[in-house]
Amino acid sequence: MEENYIWHPFTQMKTAAAPLHVVRAKDCTLYTADGKEYIDAISSWWVNIHGHCNEAIANAIAAQAKTLEHVIFAGITHTPAIELSKKLISMLPRNFSKVFFSDDGSTSVEVALKMAIQYWHNQGITKTTIIAFENAYHGDTFGAMSVAERNAFNAAFNPFLFEVKRLPLPTAANIDLLKEQFAAVAKTNNVAAFIFEPLVQGAAGMLMYEAQYLDELTGLAKEHNIICIADEVMTGFGRTGKNFAIEYLVNKPDIICLSKGITGGFMPLGVTACSQKIYEAFYADDKLKTFFHGHSYTANPLACAAANASMDILNADTCRQQISSIVSSHALFAASLPDHPSIKEVRQLGTILAIELKTREASSYFNSIQSRAYEYYLSKGIFLRPLGNVVYIMPPYCITKDELDMVYTSIRQSLDVIF
Ligand SMILES: *Cc1c(COP(=O)(O)O)cnc(C)c1O
Repeated sequence: MEENYIWHPFTQMKTAAAPLHVVRAKDCTLYTADGKEYIDAISSWWVNIHGHCNEAIANAIAAQAKTLEHVIFAGITHTPAIELSKKLISMLPRNFSKVFFSDDGSTSVEVALKMAIQYWHNQGITKTTIIAFENAYHGDTFGAMSVAERNAFNAAFNPFLFEVKRLPLPTAANIDLLKEQFAAVAKTNNVAAFIFEPLVQGAAGMLMYEAQYLDELTGLAKEHNIICIADEVMTGFGRTGKNFAIEYLVNKPDIICLSKGITGGFMPLGVTACSQKIYEAFYADDKLKTFFHGHSYTANPLACAAANASMDILNADTCRQQISSIVSSHALFAASLPDHPSIKEVRQLGTILAIELKTREASSYFNSIQSRAYEYYLSKGIFLRPLGNVVYIMPPYCITKDELDMVYTSIRQSLDVIF
């Protein structure tokens, strides 16, 4: 269909192929205007954890739309938000006590950074440095870009981004040195916060690292009174096999950022949850200690209703079983992959499976193997959008065994074709 007015995200409009025109979707299948079908193997940018057009979520939104569609959230509260806050706090580790609503992953990160910085400001303590990991991705707004890796995506904005102290991801080889570096930064830089994507750096190409090493770093952060922010926008809600990646950790963060899977892909919604300690630094008779932040659509009732339904599905036995069967079939598939000359590394955590391909070009998002692979999978009826030379599967939890097998088969076949 003719499309003249739309500027698509992360898309070079001059060279990109025409977008698929999707007219409807159900469970894991996307149906296009030209009568084709595609398996959505990446849950539409990681958000559709329960597949498309889930009945229960659709009904919850429809009922909410006829009751209370939206209302200002300052001076007013409403049942869908109250219910959701209770659900999230009961699912999160026990140290979390408050949730703050925003609109998406990037704004949940902005809120987390502002909470952490003002936490110190409200106590009259000067702490302004933030520690982040190399290759990090935390969203596309300015604060989120600042704490992310500096790369081609944010080069134009570099002069406008605030400085952060960047450290490499921990490995068995570097952990001792890294702890020394971390401690050195912590001692001399008035560090306010340490932000990380726990266990998996998604946009960086599904880079994975061990919980034990992250615990060693967050342990140091706690010793030095540094606020820990877990960005679970991608890893949250079952992706890693547990509800939250931080469940693999001993040290719990002070702040957690959530979005993507929260509404099952129906509505945009961001949540930043924090511990009582953070909250109390704002809780005062002094009006200047208020957290002055809020978006027009904060805690939109339709989004909260969708999230409540999505959390009920996630916490039911059926979904738990679906997640564990994806985890085990990913592992079987990974183990069955041949020692292929085009495979550099296979990585898995929970329902996330990533295959890093060897390439003659330097590894990067702009690798030409990306477009060859993307086109190849489309031709097989599968929507996979590799991150550069990293092909990954992150399916909706309702994906059937047959659908998963189709995805595995076409990945296996692609190894000979796209390299
Ligand atoms: C996607 C993502 C974000 C940004 O979320 P948006 O909803 O796209 O703004 C932030 N952090 C992580 C880890 C993400 O994967």
